Amino acid sequence: MHQIIILGAGPAGLTAAIYAARANLKPLCIEGIQAGGQLMLTTDVENYPGFPEGVLGPEMMQMFRKQAERFGTTFITDNVTKVDLQANPKKVWVGDKEYTAAAIIIATGANAKLLGLESESRLMGHGVSTCATCDGFFFRDKEIAVVGGGDSAMEEAVFLTRFASKVYLIHRRQGFRASKIMLERAKKNEKIDFLLDTVVEEVLGQDEVTGIRIKNVTSDASRELQLSGLFIAIGHTPNVELFKGQLQFDDQGYIKTALRDDRLTQTNVEGIFACGDVQDHVYRQAVTAAGTGCAAAIDAERYLEALASKTS
Ligand code: NAP
Repeated sequence: MHQIIILGAGPAGLTAAIYAARANLKPLCIEGIQAGGQLMLTTDVENYPGFPEGVLGPEMMQMFRKQAERFGTTFITDNVTKVDLQANPKKVWVGDKEYTAAAIIIATGANAKLLGLESESRLMGHGVSTCATCDGFFFRDKEIAVVGGGDSAMEEAVFLTRFASKVYLIHRRQGFRASKIMLERAKKNEKIDFLLDTVVEEVLGQDEVTGIRIKNVTSDASRELQLSGLFIAIGHTPNVELFKGQLQFDDQGYIKTALRDDRLTQTNVEGIFACGDVQDHVYRQAVTAAGTGCAAAIDAERYLEALASKTS
């Protein structure tokens, strides 16, 4: 039996692993087949403190992992298939193999929804982005587009006008999910051009984005737009499938935490902690994920100490 099992190996899971390993808790990290999280889809990361020259996303995750390994984290590179969070000890399965632990840290992250185009995946990190805060800076004086009609799309479009010379806001219908105030703010911005009833058919460019082909869904007419960046802002999906029916979620489907004042990452089940994007749909940054990963390890450590003093 392990003291702590960590599920997921993005910035949150790996930071939890570093802290738990340094507390001598010998964590087991089940990192999943797509280990590293969303940073594996990023090229340059320029906003993570400590890297004045920037760092490549996958390279940074490799460094996090090495640091976690150095202090005694064990890794399993496979996907968890089932969990029993109510059991004592907690149970986690990878196929037929069962693992048990006194505490579990969930750091399974979230995925940005994508349009599903081959060219979109191929150019991800090379002009296609799912994070304006992370990548806006690279598009100074360039023309770019944002896809989506919700608050995220409005917020990102307005934010991106700080850098870009022009921002096309592409939305597939006339109506918006965005709140009135955010929509008005975007509409008032002279740098933003709304293209409604419009979908992106193709992202153009070999090694980097040079434009997009869009189609007006009412007239069926297609045309090309020359631009340097495409931001996909059509929502995120937290990776919570495994935990449905076992934990409480907020109204957007993210794991509810901070259910005790003194433990920021405590879920509604004792001994189960959640950190990073699986419980945060507001900040979604590597550095905030790492921060809550640290908090989860400290919360779990205190929980284990309290458990030990109860049973001794
Ligand atoms: P959202 O509200 O679900 O909006 C997603 C948008 O993307 C919708 O307009 C949707 O179009 C479009 N979309 C979805 N799939 C698409 C596809 N395959 N192709 C083209 N368009 C597609 O998501 P969100 O904007 O990320 O917001 C999520 C939540 O966070 C909301 O509750 C929002 O209020 C909140 N939020 C708040 C703030 C803030 O207050 N500062 C900022 C960001 C987000 P349809 O409308 O046609 O379905």
